[in-house]
Amino acid sequence: MIATFPGASTGPTVDPAIEDAVRRIGNSLLAAMEEHPEPGILSPKGLNARLMEWALRDPAFKARLFRFVDVLPALDSAAEVVRHLREYLGEQASELHPAFRAGLGAASMVPALVAGPVRSRVAAMARQFVAGETVEDLVRRFRENASAGMATTVDLLGEAVLSEEEADAFLKRNLEVLDAVGPVARQAPVSASDLGPSGRLEPRVNLSVKPSALAADAHPADLEGAVAALSRRFRPILRRAAATGAFVNLDMESTRWKEATLALFRSILDEPEFREAPAAGIAIQAYLRESEGDLRSLFAWARSRGRRIGVRLVKGAYWDSEVVLARQRGWPVPVFTRKAETDLAFERLTVLLLENADIAQPAFATHSVRSCAHALAQAERLGLDRRAFEFQALYGMADDLKAALLGAGCRVREYCAIGALLPGMAFLVRRLLENTSNESFLLKRHAGAGPERLLASPAVVLREEEAPTPKAPAGSGAAPAFRNAPTADFTRPAPRARMREALALVGAELGQRWPLVIGGEEVRTRSEIVSVNPAHPEQVVGRCASAAVEEADAAVAAARAAYPGWARTPAADRAAVLDRAAALLEGRRFRFDALLVLEAGKPWAEADAEVSEAIDFCRFYAAEMRRLAPPGRTQEVPGELCHEDFVPRGVGVVISPWNFPLAILCGLTVAPLVAGNAVVMKPSRETPVLAAWLFQVLVEAGLPGGVLSYLPGPGGTTGSRLCEHPGTDFIAFTGSREVGCRLFEIAGRTAPGQANLKKMVCEMGGKNAIVVDEDADLDEAIPAVLQSAFGYAGQKCSACSRVVAVAGVYGRFLERLVAACRSLPVGDPALPATAVGPVIDGSARERILGYVEQGRREARLAFQAVLPGELVSSGGFYVPPTVFADVKPDDVIAREEIFGPVLSVLQARTLDHAFELANGVDYALTVGLFSRSPGALDRGRRELLAGNVYLNRGITGAVVERHPFGGFRMSGGGTKAGGRRYLENFMFPRVVAENVMRRGFAPEE
Ligand SMILES: Cc1cc2nc3c(=O)[nH]c(=O)nc-3n(C[C@H](O)[C@H](O)[C@H](O)COP(=O)(O)OP(=O)(O)OC[C@H]3O[C@@H](n4cnc5c(N)ncnc54)[C@H](O)[C@@H]3O)c2cc1C
Repeated sequence: MIATFPGASTGPTVDPAIEDAVRRIGNSLLAAMEEHPEPGILSPKGLNARLMEWALRDPAFKARLFRFVDVLPALDSAAEVVRHLREYLGEQASELHPAFRAGLGAASMVPALVAGPVRSRVAAMARQFVAGETVEDLVRRFRENASAGMATTVDLLGEAVLSEEEADAFLKRNLEVLDAVGPVARQAPVSASDLGPSGRLEPRVNLSVKPSALAADAHPADLEGAVAALSRRFRPILRRAAATGAFVNLDMESTRWKEATLALFRSILDEPEFREAPAAGIAIQAYLRESEGDLRSLFAWARSRGRRIGVRLVKGAYWDSEVVLARQRGWPVPVFTRKAETDLAFERLTVLLLENADIAQPAFATHSVRSCAHALAQAERLGLDRRAFEFQALYGMADDLKAALLGAGCRVREYCAIGALLPGMAFLVRRLLENTSNESFLLKRHAGAGPERLLASPAVVLREEEAPTPKAPAGSGAAPAFRNAPTADFTRPAPRARMREALALVGAELGQRWPLVIGGEEVRTRSEIVSVNPAHPEQVVGRCASAAVEEADAAVAAARAAYPGWARTPAADRAAVLDRAAALLEGRRFRFDALLVLEAGKPWAEADAEVSEAIDFCRFYAAEMRRLAPPGRTQEVPGELCHEDFVPRGVGVVISPWNFPLAILCGLTVAPLVAGNAVVMKPSRETPVLAAWLFQVLVEAGLPGGVLSYLPGPGGTTGSRLCEHPGTDFIAFTGSREVGCRLFEIAGRTAPGQANLKKMVCEMGGKNAIVVDEDADLDEAIPAVLQSAFGYAGQKCSACSRVVAVAGVYGRFLERLVAACRSLPVGDPALPATAVGPVIDGSARERILGYVEQGRREARLAFQAVLPGELVSSGGFYVPPTVFADVKPDDVIAREEIFGPVLSVLQARTLDHAFELANGVDYALTVGLFSRSPGALDRGRRELLAGNVYLNRGITGAVVERHPFGGFRMSGGGTKAGGRRYLENFMFPRVVAENVMRRGFAPEE
């Protein structure tokens, strides 16, 4: 009987015979380990032991220390090392250098005398985990391992490449390793770990490959494309491995890459060239809830091909980021959240692997004595030769365990990471975290846990641990707290399939006629707005009636008539309409996604994020209205009862843009509606069908006829008339600066018969900058700049249109940025990999291309994409992503909003200068800063002037409630859509004070 997964009614069970064997084997391993020194970072003899002790005692210090370690290789000067050390660690920096001890003034410090030893200290830390920098180091290590009886697998440091050049360099290094180690392996004496069952010689060269480093143009949402891109560089590696008799293992990274990694493994080994050779394997992560299913289907595939595969079973190295990112996005957490669950899954998968040892070559990669002992106990039970599988451990860790396993007649392979320090930092920090994690086996042992605890069955641990009690929802009893609607995860097969299906269905329905709706009645007009697909302008998305001035007047009259009844409707009922609309939008998510692709040219992920935002606006404003509806006491004073409440403003006009044709339109409309106003909705002429769909949703959700009218029409006449109308009480506008300023003037004029001063809620454009500091992590900054500048072809008011890079990093940044731009996926947004689609129409394209010409005159063209022939001939409104370098602050392209995929890169002398440039434009919408200096980040918080300031992240993609959105200066009125004070824009505050004294007495409170 073996342990079963938790969740079964009886809970996991324990097999006493196996547990006896685990104790026997485990105790003997532990005893053997005592005879070998522990070299790890926690070892009392280790140089950094005291530092790690500090880190373990003080989690805040640990976070700051590891962040300092992370930034160190990027610091060019001694002075910068000292500054960062001081900023991160203050006096605790004395742990790294005595000069920081209290009493030693900063002035007495010679930076070079501090920086050198500190660098050596961290390099020594890295050397504990990184087996060497060069191929020669590796060859030496390979020989040493072989003479100690141990096999080696090589990993070349470096992850997630940004450009094809970087991916080519990664490929080249892998091929060099195969070439260099192959001949050495043939000469070096055969070690015991190289011999399989009955003395069979296994491949001696073993290479571990991180799939994300194989291509910069692989996108997990496009599985077929990703596999094709990854295969391009994996093929030469396999070919060289087959020629040299090496084994190649695919590492497993974050879950984002899991499906692509599994598909790559299977599809490439199915190619005739690789059906027989080389020997290949893949890592499987026990902490993933899906791994058992994945492993079973891998076995089924291998059996159907008669192909023996290696499987390296690991627990999983990305636990923290998997949990954080899933929680941030509202996605199900893909990993187990209790350590013992992962350990138990590891044991279950161990059994599965051993039971399939005829087709799989199991490798147990763990530093846990319990996990190793369990594998050995299960192998005994199954009567398997100890040489039918191997153990693997990382270089620099658990050397005592490696020795003990070798002594017990097991095969052991050491995983040796090779490479320069800079790309190795992510690896080093992961190892430091692993060694100092409270959950880690190594730390438990270091902390002195006895064999009983170290060898305890995870099934027993799970049973004994208190099951986590589900958190009571905040404010239970009251309305549920607002939660953001999660977006679809297109790296998963089901959402991808639903999106494809929706694109086909919606595509087949296009071309319908949509009438105006005024006062609940459909109105047809002679003139029409023809909406087309910007990627295929010959495809008509819909034909919408176009309102003239008479219809505008009729719509305002209908709204005025409907307003009193709606204003009297209880706020809770109005909020319920929004909640129902949110549910309808959620139910039609993929249909709306598809229409956003087809009518607005949005790539999949951008379209889906927009649907989530629309849902969020409905739910958030509903919750806000419930919060604001009950009158609030202004002041507690005896004898007088004073309350403040809100009344709606009346009738409003919504004028919205095409770039967020669903979310912005929805937010601008439902906020005043839930506040009790009646609204005339005039959507953009480029995207009227999306507006018609939204209108339908609101009507189906229960909005009474007349409270909302659907009124597409020309801005210059119909839009102006709606805004000037004396029956209009407010204008809710998002769009260009030019139109916004004009409407602001109109709102300022008071017409005869007008009841209220017109309120203008106005959000306009931006000329947003991202500042890149000298110590910025370019691996993070460059993808964020690309996403912010070119996502949806730069057609977002929040988009990054300027990068201000400080002199010390300018050249490096620009070079890597330009290289990364070459992998930008420009194409039809209906395809899942596309990040940059067409711009909205022909006149936008002409205007943007005009700015490109202007840029050629003013600055240096650093990059311009070449559009593939099929895009050019498609007739779609494509503009090639373009980067200008050496842009001067006064250049037109540095000052004017372009609203397209054009990026200006400016050089700043210092960070002060960079802030001055970033702030020195007419707009103040979004701004970003990439820096790893706590001091610079603090300054960014205080000194960067924009409505939304983003630190070390992209500057687009504001989330409702989390990032209330909107700017000031010529970016708008600072009204902050999706924020707590937004609804107040559509209401008048009112105070009611009642004297409650009667004949000299007041009721007691
Ligand atoms: C040779 C080798 C190759 C490796 N290759 C890969 C690879 O390709 N991909 C990869 O992802 N990792 C890989 N790893 C790393 C591995 O996944 C583990 O992170 C590491 O080995 C620590 O696990 P352990 O079994 O040694 O130690 P243990 O201390 O027993 O386990 C620690 C592990 O438990 C899990 N865990 C921690 N806290 C929790 C919690 N609260 N709830 C649930 N689970 C938790 C995590 O996975 C954590 O890494 C490799 C490790 C080795 C030794």
